[in-house]
Amino acid sequence: EIIVKSDIEIAQGSKMLPIVDVANRLGLEEDDLELYGKYKAKLSTDALAKLKTKESGKIILVTAISPTPAGEGKSTVTVGLGDAFNRIGKKTMIAIREPSLGPTMGIKGGAAGGGYAQVLPMEDINLHFTGDLHAITTANNALAAFIDNHLQQGNELNIDPRRIVWKRAVDLNDRALRKVIVGLGGPLQGMPREDGFDITVASEIMAVLCLATDIKDLKSRLARMVVAYNYNKEPVTVGDLGVSGALTLLLKDAVKPNLVQTIEHTPALVHGGPFANIAHGCNSVIATLTAAKLADYVVTEAGFGADLGAEKFLHIKSRIAGIKPEAVVIVATIRALKMHGGVAKQDLAEENIPALTLGFANLQKHIETIKSFGLPVVVAVNKFITDTDLEIQTLLEWCKRENVSAALTEVWEKGGEGGIELAETLLSVISKEKNNFHPLYDMADPIDKKIRTIVQKVYGGKDVEFSPKAKKQMQDFEKNGWSYLAVCMAKTQYSLSDDPAKLGRPSDFTVTVREFKPSIGAGFIVALTGEVMTMPGLPKKPAALNMDVDENGNAVGLF
Ligand code: ADP
Repeated sequence: EIIVKSDIEIAQGSKMLPIVDVANRLGLEEDDLELYGKYKAKLSTDALAKLKTKESGKIILVTAISPTPAGEGKSTVTVGLGDAFNRIGKKTMIAIREPSLGPTMGIKGGAAGGGYAQVLPMEDINLHFTGDLHAITTANNALAAFIDNHLQQGNELNIDPRRIVWKRAVDLNDRALRKVIVGLGGPLQGMPREDGFDITVASEIMAVLCLATDIKDLKSRLARMVVAYNYNKEPVTVGDLGVSGALTLLLKDAVKPNLVQTIEHTPALVHGGPFANIAHGCNSVIATLTAAKLADYVVTEAGFGADLGAEKFLHIKSRIAGIKPEAVVIVATIRALKMHGGVAKQDLAEENIPALTLGFANLQKHIETIKSFGLPVVVAVNKFITDTDLEIQTLLEWCKRENVSAALTEVWEKGGEGGIELAETLLSVISKEKNNFHPLYDMADPIDKKIRTIVQKVYGGKDVEFSPKAKKQMQDFEKNGWSYLAVCMAKTQYSLSDDPAKLGRPSDFTVTVREFKPSIGAGFIVALTGEVMTMPGLPKKPAALNMDVDENGNAVGLF
């Protein structure tokens, strides 16, 4: 029988280097760091400024097939690929998102990689880390308090209390807070109104922090955020309330990227983590661009499958940051492909070539999409111990026939060593294949055209329909001058369509946009298809039930 160590056991059995030593290898001095203990640091404002004039390294994006409950291992492959590049002598950094406590205590598990491809200290990263999420929660709720106080103090801006769109936030899964009434208790307690909570990672402030290029840009994005509409239905912004300075002040440290290391001491910036539905699902622009200044290669990832994460990375983040990725890795697993081919989760351990072969259609669509952006693609087959040799061989041969490079990846089991084939395949693809990166839509396209382009070219759908409400909103956006913004699709991650039950490669479907949510500070209009959860609930048996801390203060059971 094979005994598999848990992520936390592997992490706690690994020896970290002092973070100052990790920074030294990047050419940074202790003065460039703001230390958070021995193993975590933020890069100082001076260090960030100093780096600006340096040349940038190459950026590689890791994305995946449409996720299934079987798990794809994007973060694991991202971390292991960074380690592999360093092993073959390429100076490489990793740039990934920081976890939210909601999913950590709930269902998803941590977000620090897995097996022998993890960032450390994984307990800290998965818990309070350097306090960024707390700072964002506080800024979010300070703004909510300023809005309610504005109503209480005479409402000079003529805010319609029924049209306040700014919600409160907490970084937990807490369904009981989805809809609340605030201000009860009489005139001294404020103005009674309906309110609600989002999880912190769904706050627009998280998206804004992740898209800001520096603190000045952060402040102007915060000022542009729309918090409410007045009785003339005109937008009221943070700038109108006069609190963009205060909010920026609350975020002045959270905006600096966090430096940590992998099990193999590869330096990693772990910074920012917006939702991948209501927001764009990528770590901060500041972290990715800083990593590119410090290393020759940066491996970064985007949430969910390529239809959501990569589309948003390429249309939203890359445009703002001026990023041109060198290549895109699509992570696929035998298990998930079998699920796309119709196998139930409990039957995944059995070999099933016909189902696997059916499931290839999902991978095929994502490969086509990335190629349509003009980008070189490599498929990373993230190996699970249950995969049979015949299944792996079948997948690799299919890739060969489809004329796409592929590499078996065993970083979960072997660390960087297990990613060398992937790293070498990438280097060869980058040097040989043409890179003709271009977005699929123009910013000048109207919103409905942008969405139709995404539905047809990225999802492979027939068309898009807009609800009467969505149509009316598009007219209002025109008036407000918001039509030139990017779109951020909020769609189920499980299907290429807007129906989570349609696995594989559905065709001939129409996507319905129910409603829009303008995120003007972030710089995009969110298009909501289906029900979109901005405050998740806890499952019957939350991950928290397995968690503990021993008498020495060490975390136990954190995956
Ligand atoms: P994603 O980034 O796609 O959400 P993660 O990299 O966070 O996925 O991995 C999710 C979970 O799956 C982690 O607990 C990780 O340890 C586990 N995992 C990833 N790859 C493998 C693998 N090859 N074998 C076994 N478990 C894996």
